[in-house]
Amino acid sequence: MPAVTVPDITVLRRIPIPMPDASSRPVRSVTSAPSGFEGEGFPVRRAFAGVALADLDPFVHMDQMGEVDYAPGEPKGTPWHPHRGFETVTYMIDGIMAHRDSNGGGGQITDGDTQWMTAGAGILHIETPPEQLVVSGGLFHGVQLWVNLPRAQKFAPPRYQDIRAGDVAVLGSDDGGALVRVIAGEVGDARGPGSTYTPITLLHATLSPGARLDLPWRSDFNALVYVLAGSGTVGDAGQPLHKGQLAVLGDGDSLTVSATIGHHSAEPTLEVLILGGRPIREPVAWLGPFVMNTRSEVLAAFEDYQAGRLGSVPAVHGTC
Ligand code: MN
Repeated sequence: MPAVTVPDITVLRRIPIPMPDASSRPVRSVTSAPSGFEGEGFPVRRAFAGVALADLDPFVHMDQMGEVDYAPGEPKGTPWHPHRGFETVTYMIDGIMAHRDSNGGGGQITDGDTQWMTAGAGILHIETPPEQLVVSGGLFHGVQLWVNLPRAQKFAPPRYQDIRAGDVAVLGSDDGGALVRVIAGEVGDARGPGSTYTPITLLHATLSPGARLDLPWRSDFNALVYVLAGSGTVGDAGQPLHKGQLAVLGDGDSLTVSATIGHHSAEPTLEVLILGGRPIREPVAWLGPFVMNTRSEVLAAFEDYQAGRLGSVPAVHGTC
């Protein structure tokens, strides 16, 4: 995985050890993500399927995109489509995703980069593999997370942030067995570069076989652990957690993840996303690309989209 990494974990800033009286978060549920297809047909795992929105709050939805090794001509993206009422966070681990939106935002993200798009009041965008990747094929692996906006900020102006792989804060565990990339939020005094309306923490951790990661975790945030690759356990009781599974944790102020001592040579390390945020605790009305508080607000979003009020597709010169 070419997400940002380092040759020697032991020289990194250390992950703070939870206080001795910290209460470790128990595992409340484990669910397995069903496979599906997104956009024009790229494979995804629906990471949050089967979990109540109240347990995900402030998150709404998450897709693991791939991992897939495309043959030449196979890479696919999405057509132009609208969003309103939330933010999308797209973290690319392998491969390249190009983005353009009706607000003038755009760029390419690759190998550990993150793109943060506040849809807010409304935006149209397109997410595609760049032409050279379509021609060559190759690895494609990433995550798209939807972070809800509270009622007061659903109509915030659209905003676009490109976060380069080198901007994330990188921390190591004391024994050098775990590497943690802080994409958003804080771990100890290390702060990730992502900036959201709704406070969240988003980490990508890599654990060597047999390594254990103990992390302090804000007690006012929820806590979710999703396995991108490999196998391990979560919680003090050692609940097994495998690739494509999500653990929802209960209350507490620290969490524990461990990597299995590998027999799985193709995926010797445990790759997990650890995420949480401050719950918004408002009604959620979600249909397709719109996440609002009421059904009538969702219907209004469809009407505004059809009337062209969420923006228009920019002209592309030199093509026909
Ligand atoms: Mn989209």
